[in-house]
Amino acid sequence: MTDLPSPTQPRSGRPRVFVTRYLPGPALSMLRAAVELVGNVEDRSLSREELLAGVPGVDGLLCIPADRIDAEVMDAVGPSLRVVSNYAVGYDNIDVPAATARGILVTNTPGVLTETTADLAWTLILGASRRVSEGDALVRRGDFHGIYPTYMLGRDVHGKTLGIVGMGRIGAAAARRAVGFDMPVLYTRRSGPLPADSAPAGASWRWCAELDELLAASDIVSVHVPLAPETRHLIGARELGLMRPGSVLVNTARGAVVDESALVQALRRGPLGAAGLDVYEHEPRLAEGLAELPNTLLLPHVGSATVETRGSMAELAARNAIAALRGEPVPHPVNPDVLGRPAGR
Ligand code: NAP
Repeated sequence: MTDLPSPTQPRSGRPRVFVTRYLPGPALSMLRAAVELVGNVEDRSLSREELLAGVPGVDGLLCIPADRIDAEVMDAVGPSLRVVSNYAVGYDNIDVPAATARGILVTNTPGVLTETTADLAWTLILGASRRVSEGDALVRRGDFHGIYPTYMLGRDVHGKTLGIVGMGRIGAAAARRAVGFDMPVLYTRRSGPLPADSAPAGASWRWCAELDELLAASDIVSVHVPLAPETRHLIGARELGLMRPGSVLVNTARGAVVDESALVQALRRGPLGAAGLDVYEHEPRLAEGLAELPNTLLLPHVGSATVETRGSMAELAARNAIAALRGEPVPHPVNPDVLGRPAGR
């Protein structure tokens, strides 16, 4: 851990922000110019013990999805804590009710990662459907001995029906890309159908009131809902059983939205043909048997991992923290109800 002033070191008078890990782009310079930056600015993970030991008395916490920010961490900081700025759009790693109860603002980084994550969903749609990881591994180990009519047959993507579970920012960005593949899109979202003019020219988008209907009528299902108590295992054994024979499931949202053990069974015994996953229920651990299945394309949670987007996320996370500590309008508050309440509770 670097930059952490010792308890005896006098405070600068500026708000103190604890960063849990090095951030790319201009974020750290922005923070250094605006606040007293402390914590871990090295590109290595911080242990729970280091986190708990380092945070007492800070005003802000800038964390990444791998950090679990729960009541224990908030209480370790104490009443000084005013903002938890998450370096992600998803905030299932933060106990938001606990933060709200303590008057702590939580912020996230929506929008700047939308297109990048939709690109990755399509990487998985195409890669899982066309057996890209199997083919790549086969060529590398010297097992490519020429083609024949039944060799390495995948499934078409173009013209198939794409089901988007959670037609929010990323879901809609993934759906927009389907126009070029002549794919009709079915979608779910809590707040009903989108206005007709939301779909791009040439698109066919239809809202499904029930997830079951979408699952039964789609050839490729891409999951984009946030992880919350009501979406945990939204897609379990029953739902997987409704999917079409040979269908493809893609998940770039959060692992626990899908029951991963049930997914392994559905990939082994049907009806699923393949799955493309960026996220896992017990990340970074995989469900037993998943890694051995040839009909999976498995990525290490890299949905937003491009040079451009990771820099933009860091910048937005820094802007959120700085604005909250200055009492200025905060770009992306998760629990805006706490704004205007007296600091500390
Ligand atoms: P968003 O704009 O809030 O979209 C979420 C969508 O899910 C909304 O359409 C929402 O419906 C819908 N939804 C929420 N709860 C639902 C439920 N119970 N049943 C059906 N639909 C429900 O969020 P986003 O920016 O697209 O991000 C989505 C998620 O992607 C994030 O929360 C994060 O976990 C994940 N993500 C992963 C990566 C990665 O690296 N793999 C990168 C970025 C994001 P309404 O529109 O009606 O509210």
